[in-house]
Amino acid sequence: MPTYATKKHEIDPPRLICGVINFEFPKQGATTNKEEKQLLTVDSETELQLTADVLVIGGGPAAAWAASAAAAQGVKVIIADKGYLGTSGAAAASGNGIMAPSPENWDKVVSERYRIGKNLANLRWIERVIEKTWLSLPLVEDWGYRFPKENGESVRQSYYGPEYMRVLRKHLLRVGVQILDQSPALELLLAEDGSVAGARGVQRQNNRTYTVRAGAVVLANGGCAYLSKALGCNTNTGDGLLMAVEAGGELSSMEASNHYAISTAFNATVTRGVPFGWASYSDEAGNDLGGYINGRRDPAFLPNALLKGPVYARLDRATPEVKAVIEKSHFIAYLPYKKAGIDPYTERVPVTLVLEGTVRGTGGIRIINDSCGTKVPGLYAAGDAASREFLAGLASGGGGPNAAWAISTGQWAGEGAATFAKSLGDRAHERVVYPAGQAGMRSPKAERSASQSLTSETFDSQAIVRGVQAEVFPLEKNYLRSEQKLLDSLAKLETLWQQVQENPKQDTVRDIEFSRRAAALTAVARWGYFSALHRKESRSEHIRIDYPETDPNQRYYQATGGLNKLWVRRDWITDETTTSPVLTTQTTASVS
Ligand SMILES: Cc1cc2nc3c(=O)[nH]c(=O)nc-3n(C[C@H](O)[C@H](O)[C@H](O)COP(=O)(O)OP(=O)(O)OC[C@H]3O[C@@H](n4cnc5c(N)ncnc54)[C@H](O)[C@@H]3O)c2cc1C
Repeated sequence: MPTYATKKHEIDPPRLICGVINFEFPKQGATTNKEEKQLLTVDSETELQLTADVLVIGGGPAAAWAASAAAAQGVKVIIADKGYLGTSGAAAASGNGIMAPSPENWDKVVSERYRIGKNLANLRWIERVIEKTWLSLPLVEDWGYRFPKENGESVRQSYYGPEYMRVLRKHLLRVGVQILDQSPALELLLAEDGSVAGARGVQRQNNRTYTVRAGAVVLANGGCAYLSKALGCNTNTGDGLLMAVEAGGELSSMEASNHYAISTAFNATVTRGVPFGWASYSDEAGNDLGGYINGRRDPAFLPNALLKGPVYARLDRATPEVKAVIEKSHFIAYLPYKKAGIDPYTERVPVTLVLEGTVRGTGGIRIINDSCGTKVPGLYAAGDAASREFLAGLASGGGGPNAAWAISTGQWAGEGAATFAKSLGDRAHERVVYPAGQAGMRSPKAERSASQSLTSETFDSQAIVRGVQAEVFPLEKNYLRSEQKLLDSLAKLETLWQQVQENPKQDTVRDIEFSRRAAALTAVARWGYFSALHRKESRSEHIRIDYPETDPNQRYYQATGGLNKLWVRRDWITDETTTSPVLTTQTTASVS
């Protein structure tokens, strides 16, 4: 078994003194490149420097709801999105069904959700998410979103992503939130007492770095889909998870980081899979493969069939009514056929599974209280960036719960962050702060080289990404897991992790972003597989071929974290934890 604790890097981050932030990306041993020197000089002179009470990182529904809720507390809010707020992220591209049953159906939906969570979901959280979502959706309507009407009543069960996000953007501007588009955040700032104090990142279109000093920060920057091109997910590279852990936060349920979604094999990016509920499946020779149990699609069928050979789908189970729904409500899923001139109801098309990772998976930043706070004072998490274990156990939260989770946790996190920032008062921006980013940002190895007058090679971020994808994409590694395959992958990921400790390429803003992104993808893959290695059972999305049964005694959330030395911990679920107002956990010793 490889040791995951290789070297502990002692980082001595540059200190930032009261009020004046003027740090640069470190001038490392390898900064012999002329352009890089220019960029570093320009950065220090032109860096955008802002202050806010609350900084929200992200640009999807969770971030938008967080910013809205914080602004409603009367504090100054900045929101920084990697893309353009309104079109970036999974929801904007796909549209979502929402878990928002009317009150007479609450009990039914709550118990169904609890059942799906296989004794890991939390009844109290399911109820509060449903209630908050139900109460919030009329607000979006007030802000300009039009839900379909039935008998004169709004049916608030789903939304069109682009329209919903356009309305949320307009609302944020109306209530005075400052939006930084095309501004990926790269690292958090920490105060000397360990509380979070802002973040910094790059502005792609202005070719400069930026710093936001803030009293509190909400991480709402989505899950991690490993650049698989799943619909709307290529902005979601797990940056928030790395930022949280570097700041002292923890992750949870990362063994449920392997959600795969069906797509046509051509144009394998449209992972909105609803139409495939009406498909019949066949092999290369045209033999019917089944794939249904009691008339319902068997979720385990497709991965297993694809491991044996190509699989073809024809949507020939769709009735005329269903066809109308597919073509109208799920047009994005119908589009690839239309563009290719294929009639999906009569012609067979090859299908594949695309990794969505923790998007429509479950794992993410561990939240420790009702305000979606994390272990780091002043740091809050919402939406897919946070673990959705309370709603889903280790099952997928797709199909309604995740959209509701983004709406509700976004608001709780935004309110919590505003309260925290207010409690700091004027002290917030006077704190001595330092940047917490490590891998892919600055390299202790290169600093050592510099002191020895040696040059250090930069790592190739694209090669790192390909290396990570080679471990996490294949179904035989990530869908059907086993101890040996997990250990093999972890060893390879460990090598990649060592590489991202080298000198990051920082000639351009794009290089800076991509170096950091490579580090985040590597980190998330390691946490996912390390957690998978230590949960020795099969449960929902986490399938171990060497432990095929679900063990009813394994009723715990698995926390994980660590940078060079990974760890996991079992947080046992007691009946009190499912009902008490603030979650408490009984904790056993870490397993390294
Ligand atoms: C094809 C598909 C269909 C789905 N269908 C459903 C459904 O029907 N029902 C359901 O409940 N869920 C569904 N989901 C899941 C749902 O879309 C997500 O749960 C939801 O979008 C989560 O919102 P979010 O704001 O957390 O993340 P996202 O909507 O993914 O937004 C993440 C945001 O963070 C930004 N970001 C990323 N990194 C950074 C950074 N470093 N700095 C700044 N910003 C950053 C991104 O640009 C993006 O704006 C679906 C997902 C997919 C992919």
